[in-house]
Amino acid sequence: MKVTFPHMGNLYICVKGMLEYLDIEVVLPPPSSKRTLTLGAKHGPEFACMPLKLNLGNLIEASELGADTIMMAGGCGPCRFGYYAQVEYSILRDLGYDYNMVVLEPPEKSITELTSRVRQITGKKSWWKVIQAIRYGYLKSRAVDEVELMSFQIRPREIVKGETDRALAQALKEIDSASTVQELKLAEMRGKKIMQDVAVDPNRPVTKIALVGEIFTLLEPFANHNIERILGRMGVEVDRSIYLSEWINDHLFMGLLKGIRSTKEYCNNAAPFLNHFVGGHGLETVGSVPVYARQGFQGIIQIFPFTCMPEIVAESLLPRVSAANDIPVMTLIMDEHSGEAGLITRLEAFVDLLEHKHKNASAN
Ligand code: SF4
Repeated sequence: MKVTFPHMGNLYICVKGMLEYLDIEVVLPPPSSKRTLTLGAKHGPEFACMPLKLNLGNLIEASELGADTIMMAGGCGPCRFGYYAQVEYSILRDLGYDYNMVVLEPPEKSITELTSRVRQITGKKSWWKVIQAIRYGYLKSRAVDEVELMSFQIRPREIVKGETDRALAQALKEIDSASTVQELKLAEMRGKKIMQDVAVDPNRPVTKIALVGEIFTLLEPFANHNIERILGRMGVEVDRSIYLSEWINDHLFMGLLKGIRSTKEYCNNAAPFLNHFVGGHGLETVGSVPVYARQGFQGIIQIFPFTCMPEIVAESLLPRVSAANDIPVMTLIMDEHSGEAGLITRLEAFVDLLEHKHKNASAN
């Protein structure tokens, strides 16, 4: 069995680590590229959201490298994510790809539905070993998030342009190569040291912008044109409303690990503008605005794929949330036609606006 799964930013480091901990052979698709998107857009439904198209392209490219089993998360709506796996599986079969697909989704009747699906991947491995592997994957996601967070603070202050990107790539490689918990601890320490060694100007003034929105577009740099890097090089310190390890703790561990930032804080701050779940991360997007405003961020950028229902609901509310909290919000909608030049122009204009607003406020 050669297992693959679609890309979503650095998720591969944690899922690959978890599967290899169980001695399962992993075939990673190449990083998402123009070719991936072209393949997905060619074979996927035209009005499907971009994540489906990129997932499809990833799975076609992984098959070319010999993968025969897909492991995917499932869901139960209300957005289209609930039937993504089945749609992708049908398309792949029609195209002649002979994949076995295991969808890990919330069970309908009893937990044995989920455990029997997990068994299709793990075989006869003991549950203790499986739990250890999940914990190991989680620790990798924590390490990845830690160095990414450092990059957000270092990049706008770096003295030599591009140094942060080089250091981050090296730090992530260290974490990816670790194959035991002990090795991972050392790799994380080395990774952080690599990041700390980037020369910075600590007194350089920076603008602070929070990136919020749909999880896939936030985490996958190909889908968002590497917006964190573009903004960092414009002298902007960013934060993201979603980190992988927080998502795992909130959704898979049911918040069992305490003392870790949680998106629940955003959900609790969405009222009175939005009072219920609308699918995806729509509720978190609305509630993140007051939280970031209180934390002193100067602006918010909402990012989501074209036709993403939960984020369209959030977008319709954001002008009121923005006015109530006196913080500018810009929305970016991504699809296969989005171009980088147009994006950079819009980001430059938004950063200019925030800087002027900040200067005027400081002068008064
Ligand atoms: S949250 Fe949005 S982008 Fe993600 S599957 Fe649902 S509709 Fe598509």
